Amino acid sequence: MSAHTHIEPVLILGGGLAGLSTAFHLRRPWLLVEKESRVGGLVRTETMHGGFRFDPTGHWLHLRDPGMKALVHERLLPDGLVTVARRAAVFTRGVFTRFPYQVNTHGLPVEVVAENLLGFVEATVGEGGRALREREPANFEEFILRHLGAGFAKNFMVPYNTKLFGVPPRELSAAWCGRFVPKPSLKEVVDGALGLGSDALGYNASFVYPKEGGIESLARALHGALPEGSGEVRVSTEPVALDWERRSARLSDGSEVRWSALVSTVPLPALVDLLHQVPDEVRAAARRLRATDVTWVAVGARGPNLQPWHWVYTPEPEFATYRIGSPSAVFPGTAPPGTSSFYVEYSGPRSPQACARAAVEDLVRARMIHSAAEVLFAEPRVIRNAYVLYDGQYGEARQTVVDFLGRVGIRTAGRYGNWEYSSMEDALLGGRAAAEQVERA
Ligand SMILES: Cc1cc2nc3c(=O)[nH]c(=O)nc-3n(C[C@H](O)[C@H](O)[C@H](O)COP(=O)(O)OP(=O)(O)OC[C@H]3O[C@@H](n4cnc5c(N)ncnc54)[C@H](O)[C@@H]3O)c2cc1C
Repeated sequence: MSAHTHIEPVLILGGGLAGLSTAFHLRRPWLLVEKESRVGGLVRTETMHGGFRFDPTGHWLHLRDPGMKALVHERLLPDGLVTVARRAAVFTRGVFTRFPYQVNTHGLPVEVVAENLLGFVEATVGEGGRALREREPANFEEFILRHLGAGFAKNFMVPYNTKLFGVPPRELSAAWCGRFVPKPSLKEVVDGALGLGSDALGYNASFVYPKEGGIESLARALHGALPEGSGEVRVSTEPVALDWERRSARLSDGSEVRWSALVSTVPLPALVDLLHQVPDEVRAAARRLRATDVTWVAVGARGPNLQPWHWVYTPEPEFATYRIGSPSAVFPGTAPPGTSSFYVEYSGPRSPQACARAAVEDLVRARMIHSAAEVLFAEPRVIRNAYVLYDGQYGEARQTVVDFLGRVGIRTAGRYGNWEYSSMEDALLGGRAAAEQVERA
C-alpha cells in the first residue's frame, strides 16, 4: 500500500449560497463545481448602463436564525449592511394600499372594503365558513378561503397568485402556504379597514441589504471566507455524468473525480438527468416536477421615483406584470444621481422582447414614471425555474426522487436542489445542514 493516502473530496454541485455554505461549513476537503463563470447563483448583481445596479429582482435579506445572523452580520459583512423598513404596496382599483393587503384595506372603494371584511368574518367565525374550518384545505384556494375569506380571495389573493405561478391556486397544494401567507386576526383586519393598520405583519417587515455592491456582496463575502486550502472552487465547469455506484463524476473540463460524499444544489430534475442507473419510476417522477420561469425587465429612467414604494403588487388584469420593484427607492446608491430604477416581473413562458415593451406600459400605468419618454433602457432577463410549482403531483413526485437519492447516498440542499420555495437564509441553512450530515456520516 502507498504511504500517501489520497482523501477523496466532498463533491458540491453548484456555487449559489447553498453550495458555498456547504463548503464553508465542511471540515473535510471539498471540490465545488459551478457551471457559470462566477459563483453566487441567484445572488449575483449586474451593473448596467453606467452605474445602474440590479439584482435578479428584489433580493432582500431576512435573517431569523441566530447562527446565520452572527455569520452574516459579524463575520461576512461586518458594518456592511443597512436595515430597511419595508415600504411595500398593492395597487388595485386605482389606489395604492400598504402591503399586506389583508390588514391595510383603508382607502379602497368602500364596497371592496365591505366585501373583504364580511368575507373574512364569514370564513373565520360565520356559519358559511364552518365546513372549511372543520377540515384540512384540499388546495391553496381553499386555504385562502379558509383563512382570509371570499373577498380577500377575489380582490387580491387569487388573481395575484394566478399571475405569479401561472396556474390558479386551486391547482396548487396548501402545504407550503403557512409560512408565506400572513394570517391576520379580526382586530388586525378591522383596524386595517378603518385606517389604523400596521404594515408590520408578515415575515418580512424589515430586511437588511449590503451597503455596497448589491446582494452579490453576500456571495462574494462567503466565497472569500472559505478557509484557504480547505477545498477548490472550479467555475465554468459542470458534471456531464455522475456514477453513484463508483462515486465518480465526469466533468466538462475532461477530468474525472471520485467523491467521498456528494451534495447537490443544482435543480433536482437536472441532477436526475446526470445520474446513471436510475429506476424508470424515479426518472418519471423527476419529469413531473414543475416550475415557472420569471422574465424580469431592468428599467432605468430619467428623474426621481414618482412613488415611495420599494415594491408594488399588481394583481389586476390590466397589468401584465405581477410585481414592480424599485432598487433606487430602497437604496439610492443603486442608480446614478437624477435617475430611478425598476424591475418589472412577468411569470410563465414569455417573449422577453414583449416583456420589455410591457414593462414600460406597466410602469406608466402604475404611475411610477410619467411616460415612456423618461425610459433610458428596458432590458429583459430570464430566471429559469424561478418558482417551483406545488401542484397536486409535487409531494409524491419529489418524495420518490428524494428517497432514491437517499438510498444511493446523495444529499441535496438549496431552493432548486431541494425543489422548494425558500429564501437566501434557507439556502445558507440548508448548506450548513448538508455539511453537518456529511461530517456525521
Ligand atoms: C425572483 C426571485 C426573487 C427572490 N427574492 C428573494 C428575497 O427577496 N429574499 C430572499 O431571501 N430570497 C429571495 N429569493 C430566493 C433566493 O434567491 C434563493 O433561495 C437562493 O439564492 C437559492 O440559492 P441556491 O444556492 O439554493 O440556488 P442558486 O442560487 O440557484 O444556485 C445554484 C447554482 O448551481 C449552478 N448550477 C446549476 N446547474 C448546474 C450544473 N449542472 N452544474 C454546475 N452548476 C450548476 C447555478 O449556476 C447556480 O450558481 C428569490 C428568488 C427568486 C427566483
